[in-house]
Amino acid sequence: MLPETIKKFVARLFSGARTGPQRLPVEKHGIDRRQVSRHAIKVCEVLRQHGYEAYVVGGAVRDLIVGLQPKDFDVATNATPEQVKPLFRRARIIGRRFRLVHVVFGPEIIETSTFRAPSSNGSEHTDEHGRILRDNEYGTHEEDAARRDFTLNALYYDPLTEEVIDFHNGVADLKKRVVRMIGDPERRYREDPVRMLRAVRFAAKLSAEIEPATLAPIRRLAPLIENVPASRLFDETLKLLTCGHAMDCLRKLREVGLHQDLMPLLDVVFNVPEGEHFVDLALARTDIRVRAGKPVSPSFLFAALLWKLVYQRWQSLVAQGGHPTQTLLDAADSVLDEQSSKMAIQRRFIADIREIWFMQSRFERVNARAIWRMLEQPRFRAAVDFLQLRAEAHEVDSVMAQWWMDLANAAPEDRIPMVEAYQAAQRGERPASAVKKRRRRRPRRKPGSSGENIPQPSNE
Ligand code: ATP
Ligand code: MG
Repeated sequence: MLPETIKKFVARLFSGARTGPQRLPVEKHGIDRRQVSRHAIKVCEVLRQHGYEAYVVGGAVRDLIVGLQPKDFDVATNATPEQVKPLFRRARIIGRRFRLVHVVFGPEIIETSTFRAPSSNGSEHTDEHGRILRDNEYGTHEEDAARRDFTLNALYYDPLTEEVIDFHNGVADLKKRVVRMIGDPERRYREDPVRMLRAVRFAAKLSAEIEPATLAPIRRLAPLIENVPASRLFDETLKLLTCGHAMDCLRKLREVGLHQDLMPLLDVVFNVPEGEHFVDLALARTDIRVRAGKPVSPSFLFAALLWKLVYQRWQSLVAQGGHPTQTLLDAADSVLDEQSSKMAIQRRFIADIREIWFMQSRFERVNARAIWRMLEQPRFRAAVDFLQLRAEAHEVDSVMAQWWMDLANAAPEDRIPMVEAYQAAQRGERPASAVKKRRRRRPRRKPGSSGENIPQPSNE
């Protein structure tokens, strides 16, 4: 008789293919059916009534098992998109290469995809590094599980029986907090280098370890990231930064040697004075927003990541006698030019990033008329949030930053007296209230900051 451990090892080697999947009852996975989207359940029920198999799959199952709120719910089925679509009142087939069905219930979309087979190994489907170019073959349930990335992402929840179907021991890995690649890690990274970034993201998000064999090839294969289309890389970078554990992700990316091709200036950012601290503050705020279910603006994120570089260049240009506004623009452009050729910042965000930075020079030196113009800028709110971040990093005066935040939050009619008070201060006739307030909350002066309650009038 084989010892139990060897039996288990052999079972894992064959990835359940010989033994069939485990069907785990509620006691083994703990998913509370009430936490599952009723629309996802509905899709599974309808498909089942028509004789098809259908399961909730992927990230939602993973997140429910560890008690996180899923972002969205996906369904996998053996019905083809053409078979799925007519079963629902509001459903559309999307995607040209990878066709799937969006079943729409008000604001919720249940992405319903047909079981896929793993990519065939033939070179006609891959580029010279092994990256998959085509993967659109339908397959069996078992094949669908095998083409997924990590064991903890290959779980299928059956809302009718409340069982989790597990071909690759994913529930056990998930409970042990282990990110383990299905199949041969090197081959799977070559097929899709983005999987390396996904490994880091899930490890950070789930406080998990990347299993040694899954981790081992990453450093060596990291340069393959260069072959990934820029738009996909941008999407994945954004997912890393908005997974609720952004700083952990960045640290892990550096740890495993993945940041160089993804964010080449990350090292530089971390090496400029206060660079790491600033990114830390920015990402901590982002994480809080994400965990509270609030939206995060990509422009704001990238503006924050690159700011210390811009700031350093800006300050040195000003020290050389440059005009504060013009030199800020010059510094911004030089950083953006360098970065957007390497890091995949999408063009549509560049204008916003520049706007957020550009307004920073105006907060400290602006006349009343310009305040009204600034209030009309679409990125005003983001720029004010950014100013708060700089205040938190002790780069600008926090009372000044708060004045702008109050202005941004004020109802339109309340803004008038605020700006009037500002104008009065500009003329030197400080209203009593402003003077009193100023005495009470005298800010700590920082070298280089104006140290005033109210932004200083500029001579522009
Ligand atoms: P989240 O949506 O929380 O970021 P997720 O796991 O749901 O995480 P998605 O990108 O929505 O990630 O993908 C859904 C599922 O599709 C994954 O759980 C995984 O099973 C599979 N999958 C996604 N991307 C890949 C990939 N690059 N290689 C293999 N399988 C993948
Ligand atoms: Mg998902």
